[in-house]
Amino acid sequence: MKVMADVKCHLRELETQVAGLNPPSNPVNLGNTGLLSLDPSPDKLPLYYQLLDCYTWMEKVHCYSTIMHSLFSGNNLKRSSISLPYSAKRRRPASLNHNVPQQQVDMLIQGVNQMFQDMTLNISRPFGNNAVVQVTLGRVLRAVVTFKGILIEWVVVRAYNEPLLDEDGKVDLYTPSQYKVFQKVTDNANAAMLNFCSPGFSDLSIRSFFTWLHSFVSLFTDVCKRCSNHLHNHMPPTWREFRTLDPVHEECKA
Ligand SMILES: [Zn+2]
Repeated sequence: MKVMADVKCHLRELETQVAGLNPPSNPVNLGNTGLLSLDPSPDKLPLYYQLLDCYTWMEKVHCYSTIMHSLFSGNNLKRSSISLPYSAKRRRPASLNHNVPQQQVDMLIQGVNQMFQDMTLNISRPFGNNAVVQVTLGRVLRAVVTFKGILIEWVVVRAYNEPLLDEDGKVDLYTPSQYKVFQKVTDNANAAMLNFCSPGFSDLSIRSFFTWLHSFVSLFTDVCKRCSNHLHNHMPPTWREFRTLDPVHEECKA
């Protein structure tokens, strides 16, 4: 008898809970595929559940890709113009930064060349369409700026007296400087390149980058804006603020 009473009690509990449930607000409309669940043949039965799993999975993919898209579009270091298929229909790709006519890059570099008396830029194309710009800044440093289309891909900064060419007589794009100070300036130049990069305004970003690089003409004579010393840990101020171009030591940055 006690068992029966227990069962009754549980049943009542279940009934009240079921009554309290909200009906699903948006029943998924599966169209004709809903009929699959009614198919009596046993080999077809699992199909319906697989289909439901598939829909859930697709829903998740869609949800994740929406989140990812908003993250990517908020990231201003983005250097390529990827757009979701549905937005590609509405607007043309904003700018094809990787495939621009050589003349456009040449003219831009020529313009930068005329901005500063003590900085000379030599453009060459040893590897096909993409430009390599050799920069000589006063008698302080030389830099190699590798372009991809109209975006800067890589920067190496070396001392004025270090060789620009490798053993094969080609422009050396990668070998780092043997001096710690220019290795640091190389790191900072690549950070600046990423900071100034904005695919929609490539002209402005290139000019801003070279203006920033030009401020190293007084690398060994500047005093740090923060501590007012020339040297800190035997290093001159190897950092330049992006907006003000103020010289700052690596350790005084933060
Ligand atoms: Zn300092």
